[in-house]
Amino acid sequence: MSLKIFNTLSGEKEDFVPLTPGEVRMYVCGVTVYDSSHIGHARSLLTFDTIYRYLKFSGYRVQFVRNFTDVDDKIIKKANDQKSSCETITDCYIEEFHRDAESLGLLAPSLEPRATLHIAEIIELIQKLEERQLAYRVDGDVFFSVPGFPGYGKLSRKRIDELEAGARVEIDERKKSPLDFALWKSSKAGEPSWESPWGPGRPGWHIECSAMSSKYLGQPFDIHGGGRDLMFPHHENEIAQSEGAFGLPLARYWMHNGLLTVNGEKMSKSLGNYFTIEEILQEHDPVAVRQLFLTSHYRSPGDFSKEALQEAGRAAERIYETIERIACSGINRQNTVADASLMSSFCQEMNDDFNTPRALALIFDEVRSLNRLLDAKQNDGIAERASALETMCEALGLLQDGPEAFFSRKKARWLRQQGFAEEEVQKAIAARDEARMNKDWREADRIRNELLAKGIVVEDTRGGTTWKVR
Ligand SMILES: [Zn+2]
Repeated sequence: MSLKIFNTLSGEKEDFVPLTPGEVRMYVCGVTVYDSSHIGHARSLLTFDTIYRYLKFSGYRVQFVRNFTDVDDKIIKKANDQKSSCETITDCYIEEFHRDAESLGLLAPSLEPRATLHIAEIIELIQKLEERQLAYRVDGDVFFSVPGFPGYGKLSRKRIDELEAGARVEIDERKKSPLDFALWKSSKAGEPSWESPWGPGRPGWHIECSAMSSKYLGQPFDIHGGGRDLMFPHHENEIAQSEGAFGLPLARYWMHNGLLTVNGEKMSKSLGNYFTIEEILQEHDPVAVRQLFLTSHYRSPGDFSKEALQEAGRAAERIYETIERIACSGINRQNTVADASLMSSFCQEMNDDFNTPRALALIFDEVRSLNRLLDAKQNDGIAERASALETMCEALGLLQDGPEAFFSRKKARWLRQQGFAEEEVQKAIAARDEARMNKDWREADRIRNELLAKGIVVEDTRGGTTWKVR
């Protein structure tokens, strides 16, 4: 089965046929850099990281563009509040975003363009819309004329008359239709501003994505993605701008990830259920976060809770334990090819609109069977199946490093949480080793139990004594 993608535009799962065979051009709306990224951002980021990884895994060359919105009312407000400049604010949050992205184990996109570095392209696009009578000026501002674009509402399936009725609540007298939106805003004192044919000002939010996607990916390109909350009005407006200017479709497949609630509620700072990525990764492994999000389909609404995250962490740990167990079993893994039937089942699930919950079910079935085979010392076929397990996990980004790194991160988190130094554990283990050398079994057991009470499991291996966190 070839890859099928649910296209928001048609409301159906469609065969994925890229414009250029073997190549995929994908644009995903990025963050507005005025605050720390939260766990809701993490879901969207991990959704498109999974899609990016799987497209690459399937052999496509992928051109992946994810922007930074670095000019916006919220940025200006924050800069004013902190008596700082917009540039200082955006530079700081872009840096933080990169740190979060790296900690989450995201693959870097091919390009991360910033709106403020594409003002010339934005101006040019607005001029094209003026030429086509799709934009009009009012005192230094430029608006897009929604009634001039007949396809408006086709992505979110909204009807213009209903939208107009809703939009009348906050009326802007200068607009010809309440649905019209700003392409260019004249700047007030103290705001970032660029010279333009309409006087000094700055771009509206939506126009940057139209300008940057067409610059780097052409038009149409293959996949446009983002969170469901961006479908209207942001993506609808992107379509109106790009298709209005060029008379060509903007993107062929529109993908939207479902939104995330926290403990069943909408996330908000005032409810106290707002977690930044950094906060979460202080207490939990990045693989746990990925595992948690992969357990629900990207289009469904997701729910986040610390309990669910803990459980996801334990599930991920079972994968690493199994891989470690196979490595210690002495089974010869050289020149083994991943089990073909397992790999084909995996691809079948993933080709069905990236069905990660079912792909994960396969992975955990395999974890169970491998452990059963290892228990029974039936080593036949284990090498091929272990390679398949690793390949599947790698394709989903669950296995970016080996068990050693995973368990040492777990230890480091545990030591930090307990306020323990690793040397204290080592000292106790050395004392136990000495007791054992002196055949003082009682003392050795006492130390072992004392450590166990703290959650440390001591293991005697051929290579010496090691320890683990329970
Ligand atoms: Zn966008």
